[in-house]
Amino acid sequence: MPGGKVCVYTGILPVTRDESGLAVVMGHEIAHAVANHSSERMSHQLLVQMGGAALSTAMAQSPQQTQNLFLDIFGLGSQVGLLLPYSRVQESEADRLGLIFMAMAGYDPRVALGFWQRMAASQQGQAPSEFLSTHPSDVTRINNLKVYIPEALKYYLKR
Ligand SMILES: [Zn+2]
Repeated sequence: MPGGKVCVYTGILPVTRDESGLAVVMGHEIAHAVANHSSERMSHQLLVQMGGAALSTAMAQSPQQTQNLFLDIFGLGSQVGLLLPYSRVQESEADRLGLIFMAMAGYDPRVALGFWQRMAASQQGQAPSEFLSTHPSDVTRINNLKVYIPEALKYYLKR
């Protein structure tokens, strides 16, 4: 998110299962922030500009209109700023760095494999979480993880 904050919805918790599983998600999202992927997409800048313009307009209007505007901004944000998936290259980078970050924080990076497999399984059937809709897991991602885990494991075992 703008300002480098990371936000996690409770909808992901059944898939993360425990603290280590949540560390997979946090590591991955922190990696996106550290690698500056959001500004690469430039959508946040657009969102901030449009949000600022809409807010000043909203100040001069009635509460109901302000509320509607807020919903408009949120809908726009969901499309261009939040729900747009990262590119495959950015995803791979976030996966690799994320594993290293979680390992440095003391979490076993091998947990990531199970997490992404559960993500893949949860793609069938129920309505996907926001994280899932922007992070579709596939065979390529899981295969890449198997390559990245040994590197991250060095950081975990070094502690
Ligand atoms: Zn990602």
